[in-house]
Amino acid sequence: MSLPVWRIAAFRGNLGSERLERPTRGEVRTGKNMKADFLSDLSEIVTEKVPLASHTCLRVGGPARWFARPRSVDHIRELVRRCRNEGIEFLPLGLGANLVVSDEGVDALVIRLGEPVFQSVDWGAAEARKGDNPVTLSVAAGADMHRLTSDAVRRGLGGLERMAGIPGTVGGILRMNAGGRFGSICDVVRDVTVVDAAGEWRTLTRDEAGFRYRGSDLGGMVICGAGLMLEPTDPKQLRARFREIWEMKKNTQPLADNSAGCVFKNPPGGSAGGLIHQAGLKGRRVGGAVVSSRHANFIVTEAGATAQDVLTLIGMIRREVADRFGVELETEVQLWGRQRARSSEPIG
Ligand SMILES: Cc1cc2nc3c(=O)[nH]c(=O)nc-3n(C[C@H](O)[C@H](O)[C@H](O)COP(=O)(O)OP(=O)(O)OC[C@H]3O[C@@H](n4cnc5c(N)ncnc54)[C@H](O)[C@@H]3O)c2cc1C
Repeated sequence: MSLPVWRIAAFRGNLGSERLERPTRGEVRTGKNMKADFLSDLSEIVTEKVPLASHTCLRVGGPARWFARPRSVDHIRELVRRCRNEGIEFLPLGLGANLVVSDEGVDALVIRLGEPVFQSVDWGAAEARKGDNPVTLSVAAGADMHRLTSDAVRRGLGGLERMAGIPGTVGGILRMNAGGRFGSICDVVRDVTVVDAAGEWRTLTRDEAGFRYRGSDLGGMVICGAGLMLEPTDPKQLRARFREIWEMKKNTQPLADNSAGCVFKNPPGGSAGGLIHQAGLKGRRVGGAVVSSRHANFIVTEAGATAQDVLTLIGMIRREVADRFGVELETEVQLWGRQRARSSEPIG
């Protein structure tokens, strides 16, 4: 079986010219300078002070202190190792479809797998398939889930149509175990390849990935790719199913607005959106952030909105739902930056 290009890149440590120079041994760097310049020799792939608002679907938030666009798995390993050595946080970024970044930004290294090598999908196994046997598709973590799903449906490979209408990259989708009433991504995962917190490249089985409701044990790692098991299925049937799920989403969610999807996880046996609706919070506004009138678990942002508007509204919803129903809602959206504490502080 031929290896997908991102796996080849990982094995070879990518081509010579892409290899990163390690800091000179014996070079003494101390205190503040150490943090300020720990990536200075990587200017080819790292930029400083990059605004993140345009990298998120909510379109709010401040800059990343450092922003990296690695071109190989070796780049990722080097970045992670340097962060570990310097005590700097690294934050992998997908499509930003589930993120609230604070207005102050993040004092961290944001790693975005946007380069072509991290968007590749190996359709070889699918093309060589025999009969109705399941096919394992190797996909890189930066691949766009919407495009991947459409391509799989067109080729008659079933399993991903349950992801219709869920924006994100494969990496973000896996990290969040995204899904809904039609199933979650973990239903089709065979394995996940990551650079772990120690900078090591590892392949985890589905069990090792620790998938659970809107979560996984893949935090603190950079997901590089995955093997997805898909079932050969009649393309006509798949298209119909895809459209049905897509239509349902379109009719119930504010897909045309800026949002980060569902803000809160559903409490056990209940619906976060239902509780917010019953609390009369649809349409509640703080600055440019509004509880969607279409789906109560969505906050949408208007021009001029700030992350603080969103966070204040999140805190307000949590308090009102707790007061009325005694249910403490847990955020599904990921909060990046220093304001995190203000919206997720215990209610009391
Ligand atoms: C209109 C709309 C509808 C939505 N509907 C749904 C829905 O029906 N069901 C659902 O589950 N979600 C839904 N969402 C939320 C969102 O689509 C998912 O959470 C998705 O998984 C986010 O993927 P992303 O690539 O944008 O990740 P991001 O938002 O960029 O990141 C989310 C988390 O994943 C981590 N991450 C991203 N890439 C990697 C990587 N390569 N390695 C390690 N960690 C990584 C980030 O660090 C962060 O912690 C919706 C969002 C919107 C805007």
